[in-house]
Amino acid sequence: MNFLPLIEAKRDGRALSESQIKEIIAASTAGGIPDYQMAAFLMAVYFRGLNSAETAALTTAMRDSGEVLSFPDDSRPLVDKHSTGGIGDKVSLPLAPLLACLGFRLPMISGRGLGITGGTLDKLDSIPGFKTTLPTERIIEIVQSVGCVICGQTAQMVPADKTLYALRDVTATVPSIPLIVASILSKKLAEGVEALVLDVKFGVAAFMPTLEKARELAQAMVALGNKCGVNTRALLTNMDTPLGRAAGNWLEVKEAVACLEPIAAKKAGSQDPLSDLRELVLACAAQLLVQTGKAETLEAARAHAEKCLASGKPRQKWDEMIVAQGAALSEFNGKLALNHTAPVVSELRCSERGYVSRCDARLIGEVIRDLGGGRMTRDSAINYDVGLELAAKPGESVAPDSLLARVHAASRTQADEAVARVKAAFHISPEPPAHQSLISEIILPEGENE
Ligand code: URA
Repeated sequence: MNFLPLIEAKRDGRALSESQIKEIIAASTAGGIPDYQMAAFLMAVYFRGLNSAETAALTTAMRDSGEVLSFPDDSRPLVDKHSTGGIGDKVSLPLAPLLACLGFRLPMISGRGLGITGGTLDKLDSIPGFKTTLPTERIIEIVQSVGCVICGQTAQMVPADKTLYALRDVTATVPSIPLIVASILSKKLAEGVEALVLDVKFGVAAFMPTLEKARELAQAMVALGNKCGVNTRALLTNMDTPLGRAAGNWLEVKEAVACLEPIAAKKAGSQDPLSDLRELVLACAAQLLVQTGKAETLEAARAHAEKCLASGKPRQKWDEMIVAQGAALSEFNGKLALNHTAPVVSELRCSERGYVSRCDARLIGEVIRDLGGGRMTRDSAINYDVGLELAAKPGESVAPDSLLARVHAASRTQADEAVARVKAAFHISPEPPAHQSLISEIILPEGENE
């Protein structure tokens, strides 16, 4: 194919036709376009953008570059959730078994972390024996029998995104809204789901730094998801502060399991330490219940999801899912061993009285990455045990010597350095900070309202 006129067209801001876009994706996936030309094209898209018809054509061409999952007919709707990523974001782990218990099927194809944001697959890889790479037949089998699976893309799914994403990563063309929309949605559409809830994060540690940018991305994905026949909604959620109390792969698995445990009778006035995590898990589940017509209103849906979570059934479903994916629970008397820890655990204590006004998720993400819990490059090895436990979060009162955080590290030197850096992430003020909502907005398809 002569690709040059298409690069020129995009460079000059002209729209490409659906068939031209299909041709580009087919040629790129077959290795027929040199990287230097594809890189030039991506940069032209970065500056000129794509209109909605071009973005739709790119998304469906990418979806169709490989296998699209197909499931047997079943009364349980096929659904999924996708997050744009953040620090401590382990929502997918408790959400998957909760949704299975609510009567959904969930073929959740997830990714790995790069840079400061964690990846669901890296968290799951910290479970002894757990397999995140599964053949298509096994993905379908587990979804049909257990109700949920969380695994990586098979080699046959959306190969176009693998090629393009690798190139975008090294040509500074990742932060382009049409390219992000096509990359995320092509993978979700290849799962064959009928409803999708997106968690689009904004804030210091998010891919989208501002609410406005997150809204723009969410609106584009919601419009295109629905156009492609998937009932799609998005939540815009804050990522200035880590989600939950744990950040780091293994610590997050432990926290996800804690979130699935039925809450013991609360003491009067005591706060649920995982309230933000639970809130987001229940909000995603509630949206999907409404989107699929399983509930009339969000209030009714949330109450139903909360009751299901409290029943303990999703906790059992979690075990069922991880055993189906290879975790050897029998070695641990039928329970996942939740006791492996990093060699050194150091405490950060407060030196003043007041309220935590800020706990900077970006700084914390950088510390965890540098402890070995994240990747600098796609090939970096990961230390699953390192991370942070947050004892205090914004709005909570502290006093001299109260515990702010525990750092789990591979060595004393690393731990000491990390403690000093985590200290800078905490801001203490004399007055309680203004309350910051976790969920700022819900983006619905045009014409729908709640
Ligand atoms: N995540 C993806 O899968 N693709 C993007 O382009 C950005 C984030």
